[in-house]
Amino acid sequence: MHHLPLKLAALLASAAAVSCQNYAQLAKQLSNTAQIYQPGTAAFNAAVLRWSNYSTPVANVVVVPGTENDVVQTVKFANQHSLPFLATNGVHGSITTLGKMTRGIEIHMSQLNSIVVAQDGSTATIGGGVMSKNLTDALWAVGKQTVTGTCECVGYMGPGLGGGHGWLQGRHGLVSDQYVSLNVVLANGSLITVNEHSELFWAMKGAGHNFGIVTSVTSQIYDIQHPNYAMETLIFSGSKVEAVYALANQQWLTNGATMPVDLINWSYWYFDPTTDAEKPVIAMYLIQEGVNKVDAAHTNPFLKLGPISTESVSGTYRDLAAWTGISLSDTPCQKTGNANPRFPIYLKSYNPIAQGLVYELFREATTAANSPFGHALFMFEGYSQQGVKAIGQDATAFAYREDNLLVAPLLTYAPNGPATDAIASALGNTIRQILFQGSGETSLNTYVNYAYGDETPAAWYGSDQWRQNRLSALKEDFDPAGQFSFYAPIRS
Ligand SMILES: Cc1cc2nc3c(=O)[nH]c(=O)nc-3n(C[C@H](O)[C@H](O)[C@H](O)COP(=O)(O)OP(=O)(O)OC[C@H]3O[C@@H](n4cnc5c(N)ncnc54)[C@H](O)[C@@H]3O)c2cc1C
Repeated sequence: MHHLPLKLAALLASAAAVSCQNYAQLAKQLSNTAQIYQPGTAAFNAAVLRWSNYSTPVANVVVVPGTENDVVQTVKFANQHSLPFLATNGVHGSITTLGKMTRGIEIHMSQLNSIVVAQDGSTATIGGGVMSKNLTDALWAVGKQTVTGTCECVGYMGPGLGGGHGWLQGRHGLVSDQYVSLNVVLANGSLITVNEHSELFWAMKGAGHNFGIVTSVTSQIYDIQHPNYAMETLIFSGSKVEAVYALANQQWLTNGATMPVDLINWSYWYFDPTTDAEKPVIAMYLIQEGVNKVDAAHTNPFLKLGPISTESVSGTYRDLAAWTGISLSDTPCQKTGNANPRFPIYLKSYNPIAQGLVYELFREATTAANSPFGHALFMFEGYSQQGVKAIGQDATAFAYREDNLLVAPLLTYAPNGPATDAIASALGNTIRQILFQGSGETSLNTYVNYAYGDETPAAWYGSDQWRQNRLSALKEDFDPAGQFSFYAPIRS
């Protein structure tokens, strides 16, 4: 049997005892609805379980604040004891930089989940722990809506802090474009309100993870004007990859064409042997607002390419997540234990030749015998952009309003040691590099909220030097010790 040297064992025991006493002291400073979960408990295990099981943050304790002041007290406590801390909510963050947290306090925001609609109906004040679907449903019940992430199981804040893409962005802009004011606990434990008069307002809308913990946000909301939606799904053989994306370009992306404000085009690639036993299929989704059937003007050109199958559905805004496979009951909302790295790139249009090249790599990865990536998914998100482009390119820390497509392979795999991790990283980066070269762009533009983690701050926050300078200066002012540096840090 292996024995610890007596002195070391005594030291460890005393460290544990001190820390337990300390947490008891913290508990006294918190409201009576706050919770502290210690390791080894079911509540702790449930709170630290994440969507992507790769390079995950490690906490010694989970604090679940019951009030805004509980967040303040927890950050002050962490500072007194030199403990790192991280806010979590939907636990869908998957960037590898999160793995740099190796100890400390996870501040789980789930109890700060209130949603209050202002009397004049123009804004709602939303707790920092509200989830996307809860907000959509609560607003829908009173005839309102706002821009949220599309997936039902992500937090409302998480996407917005990095910009935030959603079904309604063509109408109203990004999730973060709706912010009117935010209550933020800074690294030193002070609580401030950030609004259009604060220098931090610009940064919270795109680089917000770097600056504080949002206890609540007041966002613009809107009357529901187009409750009904229709979607056409066209499944194509992978052999049509170049033709399909050349047509998407022609319809919406090149020679002055733009995506109509009422239309969204997503597509997925995945291997479904029941449809094609040899190679991944292309599922094209044409989603149209305010109709019960997608206009023939949008579907006919694609039908002429000869899809394997087509399907029409109609319903309301609230059906969109289920139609696109991202509702609460779908696989992307489950914690499967898989590693889920993505390798995102923003594009202005498709390069059909590059699409063909990356399709080939994806085909190999998803169909080769014993490949760990058989369930990988390649995602192409083409939202309408009018609301996003109506706001100045420099208006917020989100740097990529001029791009039109969010593209990312999601190389989901069962964790199997560093060799498989390295293969995933090499494959994802190769795919992304081909798309980058095919784009003719001079800088790699990535969505910070899909980022793998090996990109640079310039790729997450924009390569313009003034953006880097502005963010660095704000970081120096508001978080000089870099305590908010686990999620895509401005400075590494
Ligand atoms: C299936 C799926 C679908 C997605 N769909 C979309 C989409 O439609 N649109 C989109 O834009 N993005 C989308 N994303 C990406 C999403 O924006 C990020 O994964 C985001 O980090 C999720 O936030 P979370 O609260 O769920 O995760 P968490 O891991 O809990 O949070 C991520 C990070 O956000 C920060 N954070 C969270 N809450 C707070 C808070 N209250 N105050 C301060 N910091 C906070 C912390 O730094 C934390 O590490 C999707 C991701 C997945 C996996």
